[in-house]
Amino acid sequence: MTAKRLDGKELAKVMRAEVAAKVAARVRAGKPPPGLVAVIVGDNPASHVYVRNKHKACQEVGLASWVHNLPAETTQTQLLDLVAAFNADPQVHGILVQLPLPKQIDEDAVIRAVSPDKDVDCFHPVNLGLLAAGHPRYYPCTPHGVFQLITRNGIETAGQEVVIVGRSNIVGKPLALMLAQKRTAANPAGGDATVTLAHTRTRDLAAVCRRADILVVAVGSPKVVTADMVRPGAVVVDVGMNSVDGKLVGDVHEGVADVASALSPVPGGVGPMTITMLLVNTLAAAEAIDPASEVRP
Ligand code: NAP
Repeated sequence: MTAKRLDGKELAKVMRAEVAAKVAARVRAGKPPPGLVAVIVGDNPASHVYVRNKHKACQEVGLASWVHNLPAETTQTQLLDLVAAFNADPQVHGILVQLPLPKQIDEDAVIRAVSPDKDVDCFHPVNLGLLAAGHPRYYPCTPHGVFQLITRNGIETAGQEVVIVGRSNIVGKPLALMLAQKRTAANPAGGDATVTLAHTRTRDLAAVCRRADILVVAVGSPKVVTADMVRPGAVVVDVGMNSVDGKLVGDVHEGVADVASALSPVPGGVGPMTITMLLVNTLAAAEAIDPASEVRP
C-alpha cells in the first residue's frame, strides 16, 4: 500500500485564501484589518524562522503584522510591560510571544499576562479551560491544524480509535481533548473519537499504536514510529519536526507509507497548517471585538 499524501501545503493555500477573502470583506465593510503582533526575545535561529514565516503568511492574507525583536537580556518586567501595552492597543487583535524564552523569564508568567481575548496561540489557562469544558474561544493552532488536515481530506474522526503519541501542552494534550469531545455548534472541531494518549511511560507502545484507526505522532524524535507499529490502512499524522544532517524530518519512519492508507509528509504536512490556524484565530479575535456583518470566521 502506498499512503495517500495528506498535503498540508495545498490545504493551507485553500484555507489561507478563505481567510484572505474574509479579511477583504471586513476591510470593505470599513473595519480595520485584524492585527497580529509577534514578540521574539533573543536570537534562537529556529524562532526567527518561525516568526518570519508567520509574518509573511499574515501579509499574504491582508492581516496587519508587527514583529518586535527584543535582545536576549530583556528582563521579565520589560517583556510583561510590552505585553500589557499590546493588551491595551486596539489595533492589536492577537499577541504571539514566541517560545522558548531566555531563562531569566518565567514562560508561564508571560503566557498568563496575555489577555485571553488576544491569546491566539490558545496557551492561556483560561482558554485551555474553555477548551477542556467544550466551549472553546480559540483552538490551539497545531492541534487545530491536525484536525483540519484529517477532516478536510474526507477522513471522519467520529467513532474512530485515535492514538496520540506525545502529551505536551501545545500538541498532544489539547488534541486529545478536542478529538475526544462531542462535536457541537459551539465546538465544531470536537472529534467524537475514542482517544488514547501515549507517552514515554506507556507500556508496549507498539501494541497501543496498532490499535489506532488514526495515529498522531508528536514526540520530537525521528523514526520513533515504524511500519510494524501501524495497523494496515490506518491514517497517520506526523507532527514532528527534527533536524537531521540539516534536513527537516518528522517522527515517523518512511516505511510507514507502505502500510498506512494516508500519511502527512514532513515538511509540507502539519507545519503549514499550524500557521494557517494562527491566521484563522487572529481573524476570529478581530471579529469577536469588532465584527463586520459580512464576515463569519
Ligand atoms: P515535547 O513538549 O517535547 O513533548 C514530547 C512528548 O512526546 C512528551 O509527552 C513525551 O513523553 C513524548 N515522547 C517523547 N519520546 C517518546 C517516545 N520515544 N515514546 C513515547 N512518547 C515519547 O514536544 P512537543 O512540543 O509536543 O513537540 C513534538 C514534536 O512536534 C517536535 O518535533 C516539535 O518540533 C513538533 N511540533 C511541530 C509543530 C508543527 O507546526 N509542525 C508544532 C509544534 C510541535 P513524556 O511526557 O513522558 O516525556
